[in-house]
Amino acid sequence: MDDFQKSQQRICVLGATGSIGDSTFKVLDLHPERYQVYAISGHVRLAKLVALSLRYQPQVVVVADGQAQHFQQLLGVAGLQRLPEILEGEAGLCAIAGHPDVDVVMAAIVGAAGLAPTMAAAQAGKRILLANKESLVMSGELLMQAVRVSGATLLPVDSEHNAIFQCLPATGQTQIATGSGVAQILLTASGGPFRTWTLEQLAAATPAQACRHPNWSMGQKISVDSATLMNKGLELIEACYLFGLPESKITVVVHPESIVHSMVQYVDGSTLAQLGRPDMCTPIANALAWPERINAGVQPLDLFTVQSLHFEPPDVARFPCLQLARLAMQAGGTAPAILNAANEVAVAAFLVGQISFMQIAQLIESVITQLPMSRVTDLATILAVDQQARQVAKRWLRDVV
Ligand code: NAD
Ligand code: MG
Repeated sequence: MDDFQKSQQRICVLGATGSIGDSTFKVLDLHPERYQVYAISGHVRLAKLVALSLRYQPQVVVVADGQAQHFQQLLGVAGLQRLPEILEGEAGLCAIAGHPDVDVVMAAIVGAAGLAPTMAAAQAGKRILLANKESLVMSGELLMQAVRVSGATLLPVDSEHNAIFQCLPATGQTQIATGSGVAQILLTASGGPFRTWTLEQLAAATPAQACRHPNWSMGQKISVDSATLMNKGLELIEACYLFGLPESKITVVVHPESIVHSMVQYVDGSTLAQLGRPDMCTPIANALAWPERINAGVQPLDLFTVQSLHFEPPDVARFPCLQLARLAMQAGGTAPAILNAANEVAVAAFLVGQISFMQIAQLIESVITQLPMSRVTDLATILAVDQQARQVAKRWLRDVV
């Protein structure tokens, strides 16, 4: 077809040491003739980053601030012959995300830390495989605008959004065009590990229980988000920006089997769904090769084994985070960024045992009500609001806990 498919693609994997990083390398390993790992980044698990550097021999590796020298020593001890260029921190991440030699950026850093490098990839017109949903939540308008201006290709990796993308008319754009006949989106949610728990049980839920997801194996932060249903709330906001829809056109449907990854309903009564095993290699392979299809190393779905699929409405009384996210999207402006920052502080506090499971939503609600939301004008505004919301959240932790 075009040049994209003729030559080997050079990939930058941001967040290479994480769960999405693992799945990305699984898919890349199946197609060495198509893809070459050009740059990788990792934050704390340096031993894993050393192993990836030995295995893929990237040109550039980005580590956390102040870690370059130590990392170089580790590579030397591991016996790497040709050392990569080693960069540090946010500046390093932005440099590899926008590097002229990079064709494809896998944006798989967790949380707000992913925003600046994802934006750098968008401004540089890259093909972006977007796993870092927080960057769209924080800065949806600006990120989509940067994609439009530069002509970047934004492809969703989040399984639900990838499913929706597959069920939309194949325009190559995520934004739904007027006249496309889309009536609404049905965003599916597994319901998480606590779907059937009572409020009393939820009050005593531990981090270990929250991180034990029934269907998906994921990083800690998104696992807790799945348990509170904030993950679905963040995905609702992600979907609004990605597809250009108001939140009223997105219905959350709890579907415990995680086989239907989301659906699009059209005005003629058709409902299109994408089904598959709950394995992130499928959306990653889809986004990597789009508009082609490549082997993802995932077994096909056996419907005779699956047998039945269930659907139910979400319970916002037990899972208030979903409603908080919807309200933040309705408010617009900086409200989703405030929600995201408060959630990151709350999840971190829950993971270290500082607050209880139900206090996650209480903290977020308190931060949202304390901070006035404003219009989004530029990235600096968003980053300032993010910091402010974190401070208010930390004050709540000091006062209440
Ligand atoms: P993870 O915790 O397993 O990995 C996170 C990666 O980000 C690691 O490589 C880590 O080193 C890096 N990182 C963490 N903090 C950083 C910082 N401050 N600066 C730079 N790098 C940093 O997380 P994950 O489960 O792979 O999720 C990554 C992203 O993908 C998240 O935004 C998540 O919501 C999204 N996502 C994940 C899944 C999944 O199945 N895991 C599914 C859909 C979307
Ligand atoms: Mg998802």
